[in-house]
Amino acid sequence: MSNFSMDLNEDQLQIQKWVHDFSENVIRPAAHEWDEREETPWPIIEEAAKIGIYSAEFFSQAFFDPTGLMMPIVNEELSWGDGGIALSIVGTTLGVAGIVANGTPEQMMEWVPQCFGTPDDIKLAAFCVSEPDAGSDVSSLRTKAVYDEKSDTWTLNGTKTWITNGGIADVHVVVASVDSELGSRGQASFVVPPGTPGLSQGQKFQKMGIRASHTAEVVLDDCKVPGSCLLGGKEKLDERLAKAREGKKSSSQAAMATFEASRPIVGAQAVGITRAAYEYALQYAKERKQFGRAIIENQGIAFKLADMKTRLDASRLLVWRAAWMAQSRKKFEAGEGSMSKMYAGETAVWVTEQAIQILGGYGYVREYPVERWHRDSKIYTIFEGTSEIQRLIVARAISGMYIR
Ligand SMILES: Cc1cc2nc3c(=O)[nH]c(=O)nc-3n(C[C@H](O)[C@H](O)[C@H](O)COP(=O)(O)OP(=O)(O)OC[C@H]3O[C@@H](n4cnc5c(N)ncnc54)[C@H](O)[C@@H]3O)c2cc1C
Repeated sequence: MSNFSMDLNEDQLQIQKWVHDFSENVIRPAAHEWDEREETPWPIIEEAAKIGIYSAEFFSQAFFDPTGLMMPIVNEELSWGDGGIALSIVGTTLGVAGIVANGTPEQMMEWVPQCFGTPDDIKLAAFCVSEPDAGSDVSSLRTKAVYDEKSDTWTLNGTKTWITNGGIADVHVVVASVDSELGSRGQASFVVPPGTPGLSQGQKFQKMGIRASHTAEVVLDDCKVPGSCLLGGKEKLDERLAKAREGKKSSSQAAMATFEASRPIVGAQAVGITRAAYEYALQYAKERKQFGRAIIENQGIAFKLADMKTRLDASRLLVWRAAWMAQSRKKFEAGEGSMSKMYAGETAVWVTEQAIQILGGYGYVREYPVERWHRDSKIYTIFEGTSEIQRLIVARAISGMYIR
């Protein structure tokens, strides 16, 4: 008897429907407004908190789903409504993933609920890795963390850039270098608690897409945090640094550990945008008449839609496989996490562009959502590792060679 099945279970179907209804009734109608305003859509996050979507309980339930599929399902449904608003709702989970990947159980209990707050008092979290001179090359972070044994405090100095929820978050998870000679193996993650002096927001960026999601610099100027804010604890860090100095391999590198788990989830967001554009274009192609017939009756349009649907499904399957592998602790032998994010991201860009073409002039103007979906899709070939970096990871994994 085989227990293989591609069916979602009852729980997953129920949650999928619940999140979809929220996305359809609350997120999508608000998408245009918040894209134009280029601001965090607080009222929508509050709505999501009121019904329990924006909460530590819901996301931990989704995160620990034994099949691994619940997080991709939730992310796809939210992004189907709108990429920017969805990122405002799930951006906090990037910070949470940083805590879960590197923190002790006590640190998770303390900080994860504080990342979300309560429906009456919403909080946000941010995950701060990228710097002006360290984007793809995470090993060259310049932000420094220096320990003072007497006071048991760490002092953080540096500038982080492109940070989702940066400066407006209550909990910032910061990756900093403790020993720069060790590259990424000399890095550690820190929680910077709400209101800590020395952390401030720098420039807020105006973006091409996902404009309802706040992106800004985070400046750390003699920002002091207690020893307990070092994720994983000092003993573990010292052990890891000692191993690295002896030239031994260590199992976890702060930033990388977080990215591994989150790539298929980010891929799922791209799948949501892809699906939105595909569905819209399919409907439009059936209704729009030129030369006395629906435009879908031309193979030139129908084949485009066939390709869009095929790539949409292929993206989702790659995302689900990687999420399932991550949850079942299967080793990514061929960079399957990277593969899923790369393919889903590039598919989103391609499908949304095809959708514009199918709508013609109507695809190009802001009265219709398709041009927004195209603008929103592009970030998925850039953040959480560019497509080139994902290809590097896959290429190295399949060849066993150090491809540059
Ligand atoms: C809207 C937005 C939100 C973001 N949110 C966050 C966040 O919350 N937290 C966070 O830490 N970061 C965040 N980022 C940062 C994001 O992860 C980086 O922008 C990304 O990793 C790329 O780094 P970079 O922009 O410095 O580009 P670079 O690393 O300078 O890359 C430039 C180009 O060179 C290519 N390239 C670089 N190295 C190689 C190589 N070895 N081989 C082939 N090609 C290469 C890249 O693929 C890219 O095409 C966000 C970025 C944006 C735009």
